Amino acid sequence: MNSSVEYIGPRAAFATLGGSPTWGLGERFHELAATRGHTRLGVHRPQTPYGLGPQVEHFRGPGGREFLRIPTYGQVVGEDPLLHASEWKTFWILWKAGVRVLLVGGTSGSCDWRRTAADEDAVRPGDFVLPKSYLTRDTMPTGLPGTELEFCLPRQVAIMDDPFCPPLADALRSRAGRAPDFRFRRIHGPEAGVVLNRWLAGNGFESLAARVCGMHLAYYHVVANWGTGLEPDDPTIVLNRLYMETLPAVAATLELSFLDEASEPTACRCRELLRARPPEYARALSPRATQ
Ligand SMILES: [Zn+2]
Repeated sequence: MNSSVEYIGPRAAFATLGGSPTWGLGERFHELAATRGHTRLGVHRPQTPYGLGPQVEHFRGPGGREFLRIPTYGQVVGEDPLLHASEWKTFWILWKAGVRVLLVGGTSGSCDWRRTAADEDAVRPGDFVLPKSYLTRDTMPTGLPGTELEFCLPRQVAIMDDPFCPPLADALRSRAGRAPDFRFRRIHGPEAGVVLNRWLAGNGFESLAARVCGMHLAYYHVVANWGTGLEPDDPTIVLNRLYMETLPAVAATLELSFLDEASEPTACRCRELLRARPPEYARALSPRATQ
């Protein structure tokens, strides 16, 4: 890694990592955004201490707010997200760009094992979920190596109460409830206590990384994969139709409206749940290697 790299790229307080709800748009998210009054100001490819970063799209919304979009959780063709490089590059960029509110959408991982498939109140395909918490099924992030946010545990402890910023969940819920031309089957708010099972590479790191980087995480989930009730004869065809035809415009419209209009929350504990530890903890590690 090269710690001397400086961030050269756009700055903004709001950003999104895109994700599977808008996959069906391919690389044409900006075309749909233009129809909603959003201008793509530029496309960047910043260098990071860990190598060339993912693509960063810089937008300005109709309300004048500028925001960043890194497609698909920062994943890059040919790079394995399990190796952490995409996670480090992505969050280094967001941190250096001054992002304080991060929006992420997903389509797989929320389930409610308290209910059966026959239960109409269960989490089912077509639902909109604002999860209460999450269970991680893959390696947790540990910080941004070589920076002041490196291996965070000896210096800071991130308490993962409210991993998804509650005021931002409210902002997402109100937008989901008035989506134009579309009605979600059910909207499950945080009070429903749905827990996200995060087990796909590149889809299980945002909560902790956002907290360590001092960001509020707005997370929504559109149930499309392995939700209770999705058991048709040919799930591939059903899923492709969902991803290609139903979800992209609905999710992109919701994301764009949130990014242009949502305000930075003040009544939440996202920042205070990152706690400093006694300096002795960090000094208990072996000293840094010198060249
Ligand atoms: Zn917050």
